[in-house]
Amino acid sequence: MNNNDIINKKRDDILEFYYDDLSLANNFSAIISNFYNELNNNINVNNITQEYISKKEMYPLKTKLNFNDTIEIATNFFNEINVDFTNYFKMRMHDQNNITFGDNPKANADTRKLELTKYGDLRDLYTISHEFTHLFDSKNNNLETRRVLTETCAQSMERLLDSYLLNLTDEQLLKYNIDKKILQEDILNRRISTFFKRINSIYSINNYRNFNEKAIDSGYMLAQIYSTNFSTLPYSQQKDIINNLIHNVNCNNFENAVNLFKLDLSKNNNNRNNILQNIIENIYNDYELKIQLEENKILK
Ligand SMILES: [Zn+2]
Repeated sequence: MNNNDIINKKRDDILEFYYDDLSLANNFSAIISNFYNELNNNINVNNITQEYISKKEMYPLKTKLNFNDTIEIATNFFNEINVDFTNYFKMRMHDQNNITFGDNPKANADTRKLELTKYGDLRDLYTISHEFTHLFDSKNNNLETRRVLTETCAQSMERLLDSYLLNLTDEQLLKYNIDKKILQEDILNRRISTFFKRINSIYSINNYRNFNEKAIDSGYMLAQIYSTNFSTLPYSQQKDIINNLIHNVNCNNFENAVNLFKLDLSKNNNNRNNILQNIIENIYNDYELKIQLEENKILK
């Protein structure tokens, strides 16, 4: 057994023996299908799904931001959470060494290489928050806790960014030329489009070709569950959780990391289906709110 096998084994131990990720995925798929069937009486779910997943790149957002403003907002955002994050971010953005721009944002924990986006809209800020989190949480290498939870860290960071943006003052909004109503709509669209991407992962967990592929999809499924619940918490609580989460992931302390969410997703919990049901209802509320915002705009 080489070192990589040992790392994989430990990661799969968490996924299989703590979560039983295959049954979690099965249950989640069933709950999503039921929910879609109920909805189909009123709205066409296929059309909605198509709208959100047909785009090759990430779902476009309407709030325009030039890259300098994006960097400035990201600096201030990270600074509210942890000064180490800001310092690392500033250092990397200063010479932009090992950073490329494209349609496939990613961060490599080992090489520290980054691919970011330059769409000129709010997506770039979400990309920075997401991809830099993959580097904040890998200070001590890519250990098994991180291999299970890094997407949870990154997606929760996106939800923390939602709260940060919604708390911007009128002065700040004016400075960056951000319209508050369009911002609210963008935030909802970001959450909904991410959910549809994650659904694809959940469906493919049962059709995996190898364990590595299954583990990646399971990581996305867990990210969706933990971060949706996280999104309902107040901003100050979210900040604490993110700080402690990234700290515990860096220390490879799995139990402490997941306990922060106060959401028992272990296979021993017989009520896991309630948690999953809440997640999908939460996303549906986001969708209804988005429709309301759109309708209000038309009425105006
Ligand atoms: Zn990611």
